[in-house]
Amino acid sequence: MKGKIVCITGGSGTLGSAISKGLAESGATVYLLDRNKNAAENLIAQTKQDGLDIRFVQSDVLNEDLMEKAIDEIIGQSGRIDVLINGAGGNMSGATIMPDQSIFDLDIDQFRKVNDLNLLGTVIPTKAVAKPMVKAKKGCIINISSMSALIPLTRVVGYSASKAAVDNFTKSMAVELIKKYGEGIRVNAIAPGFLVANQNRALLMNEDGSLTSRGQTIIDNTPMGRFGKPEELVSTIKWLCDDKSSFITGIVVPIDGGFSAFSGV
Ligand code: NAD
Repeated sequence: MKGKIVCITGGSGTLGSAISKGLAESGATVYLLDRNKNAAENLIAQTKQDGLDIRFVQSDVLNEDLMEKAIDEIIGQSGRIDVLINGAGGNMSGATIMPDQSIFDLDIDQFRKVNDLNLLGTVIPTKAVAKPMVKAKKGCIINISSMSALIPLTRVVGYSASKAAVDNFTKSMAVELIKKYGEGIRVNAIAPGFLVANQNRALLMNEDGSLTSRGQTIIDNTPMGRFGKPEELVSTIKWLCDDKSSFITGIVVPIDGGFSAFSGV
């Protein structure tokens, strides 16, 4: 990663922070492209003393103009972008059907927002960063998918549909960019299993730290019998970014303690 210029949307979030730290520790310059300035500044302050080169450019993955300006600003500062990680994403309660609800309770506005954030929030930064990457004939794009893209998680309808779309978009872009611009730009995704983060903590753990019944079901279906740690995503991302991984494009790599391989028997 030494000397690589990395942009990460959602870089101030739970997974984004761990990935940013891990890549900066390996010598990358990391730009956090996030709308949350406070969290970004905290991360930069925490890591500055370790000599990590993490920078912040405020942006919104749903605003094409702002995203293009942010990418231009980074190119102005660093001359190029080697890696884009599309890490901004999330869920909303109205896009999930709770146990006492049915399809008739789905909130279409929230369903749309979840799909916008996860899918368009991947498409817009990809489009913006593709310009300098096409010019350089080189680049690496990594999307963040989910276990729910493979088989939808019960009740999590909006999020699952949007992450399935992210997998599909990953493959589309991998092929599209090669066909038009040659093999230098690669597009892959990682599909993390279950990690405890701000967005899902209440679903997985009770206030006393014990598991909810959903959390227990997940652990029972994860052969390693534990949740993952955000730092455990870093090595796969480094592998996908490596110039020596030059024949790898269009794949979605599960990082899940065996969850997607387990039949439940
Ligand atoms: P998080 O909420 O901690 O972080 C998300 C970040 O995205 C935040 O910093 C937020 O400010 C930023 N963001 C949100 N909307 C934005 C916008 N419009 N423009 C710019 N930035 C925006 O979430 P997380 O748990 O770190 O998840 C990161 C990604 O990983 C998401 O795509 C999520 O779906 C995926 N994921 C998480 C898990 C998990 O277990 N935590 C598992 C699989 C996949």
